[in-house]
Amino acid sequence: MTAQSYDVIVIGAGPAGYAAAIRSAQLGKKTACIDRKLNAANEPRLGGTCFSAGCIPSKTLLELSEFYEHASQFLSQHGLRYEHLSLDLEAMMARKEQVIDNLAQGIATLFKAHGITWLAGHGLLLGERRVGFTPHGGVPQSLEAEHIVLAPGSVPVTLPGIAFDGLRIIDSADALSLTAPPKRLGVVGAGVIGLELASIWRRLGSEVVLLDAQESFLSHCDEQIMREAQRNFVRQGLDLRLNARVTGAQVDDQGVSVQYQHEGHALEERVTHLLVAVGRQPATDGLISPQAELALDEYGLIHVNEVCETTLPGVYAVGDCVRGPMLAHKGAEEGRVVAERICGEDIQIHYSTIPQVIYTLPEIAWLGKTEQALKAEGVPYRSGVFPFSVSGRARAMDATSGMVKLLTHQENDRLLGAHIIGAQASELIASLVVAMEFGACGEDLARMVFPHPTLAQAIPEAAALATQGYSLHMGRAPTPSP
Ligand code: FAD
Ligand code: NAD
Repeated sequence: MTAQSYDVIVIGAGPAGYAAAIRSAQLGKKTACIDRKLNAANEPRLGGTCFSAGCIPSKTLLELSEFYEHASQFLSQHGLRYEHLSLDLEAMMARKEQVIDNLAQGIATLFKAHGITWLAGHGLLLGERRVGFTPHGGVPQSLEAEHIVLAPGSVPVTLPGIAFDGLRIIDSADALSLTAPPKRLGVVGAGVIGLELASIWRRLGSEVVLLDAQESFLSHCDEQIMREAQRNFVRQGLDLRLNARVTGAQVDDQGVSVQYQHEGHALEERVTHLLVAVGRQPATDGLISPQAELALDEYGLIHVNEVCETTLPGVYAVGDCVRGPMLAHKGAEEGRVVAERICGEDIQIHYSTIPQVIYTLPEIAWLGKTEQALKAEGVPYRSGVFPFSVSGRARAMDATSGMVKLLTHQENDRLLGAHIIGAQASELIASLVVAMEFGACGEDLARMVFPHPTLAQAIPEAAALATQGYSLHMGRAPTPSP
């Protein structure tokens, strides 16, 4: 084997790519990972969008902005008073960069510990077993590998006629690095990114108006959860306008004029900054040489089967560049499974138990089927809904908004769907992933004893409501017959 030849080459070092690289190396494969991402100081940085401009910076700022809002608005109502709270956005952004750097450094340490060759620069699929690599500022080289894993991630979708300028019309990466809260932030798209970033800037002092083309809000969520979410966001002061399709935007010295269609009317809105968050598309530009003959699907995603094999033998694709939800944990699992299959394991990816979370306040987390999907499919089901307003811990935390909603099969009692809106929903959903993976029934969950006082106690309560129609703290048990 020459120095330019590997068992596995991975293109992309986001969660999908670095998982594939680390797992391949752990299982004894000679592995290289190519990634072109640079930090603000033009140094190579591992971790992809997730670290640099996605999960990690958004969650850091969501956490800090939540502290700020609590400190400035709510704590004094509970007897904690102090003077001179102020926002130091520069320090907040520095904290965010420090979190990213620490995590990226951690992956670099893992690469080194596992003997993975980290190639900083551009990767190009040339064909079966052949990859082109151009180092930053260097000349193209040709590499060979038995197995090639494509993990290039995704980039923001643009709207026709609305170009990002990085200053007034911005994407999510720009919105995570602003130097001052926008006076009036317009957000096109009230999806996951729109809601999370709108929450950050509203808490830090911006007026926020969200414009979304859809008639219904968060249409992929359970409808009951979605209604609760909408109520909460509107109460918090987000100006949420549905059925508002944005068609154009012009920048001037003061800000941006945004045109949108609403119920047949052409309307206009003035904002100081406009965040466009209307979805993401696979980052396949410049990734695949025309000779490679790799099939894409109708959405431009790399076509793969259920175990992430592409149409070229020995070439796999994982993460945001393939079908399925664009989630870091979904991509990381695909990367891990592909590496293990390359090394001879016969394992599958459990797509049906992958949870989703929106990290707003309240948080929204779910897995499995929604109630509207069960109805549409004609599946007989039972529903148990336990509101956090009844939870002692939620009262103590002043976090009484929301509920745990469990859906079970009417005949065999199997857990079919779990939907949580409330504080720490992102943590609570994990136990329901375990339950669904192990094929739990409502009755199993209803009999679980969780510590008191915790938000998690809402889970057995909701399960009892689904299976028997009442629980210890909700509903009335049928009168026992004499
Ligand atoms: P990426 O993380 O995008 O990494 C791909 C890497 O490949 C990048 O470094 C890129 O530079 C590199 N690359 C691309 N092409 C080439 C090439 N030709 N040569 C060399 N290198 C290349 N998901 C969650 O699960 N939870 C969250 O809380 C969450 N929050 C998010 C918040 C925001 C604002 C955004 C934008 C996304 C968020 N996501 C979240 C989605 C998550 O970031 C993605 O699903 C995840 O990063 C996808 O991982 P990946 O490895 O497929 O791609
Ligand atoms: P999205 O698909 O969640 O939302 C896009 C929204 O834009 C939709 O509601 C759509 O109706 C709206 N839209 C499209 N065109 C429009 C127009 N012309 N005018 C007005 N509205 C319009 O996409 P996103 O929020 O950009 O997020 C992209 C992906 O990133 C998500 O699919 C998600 O998987 C991932 N992500 C995940 C997390 C998380 O897990 N917490 C966080 C951020 C991003």
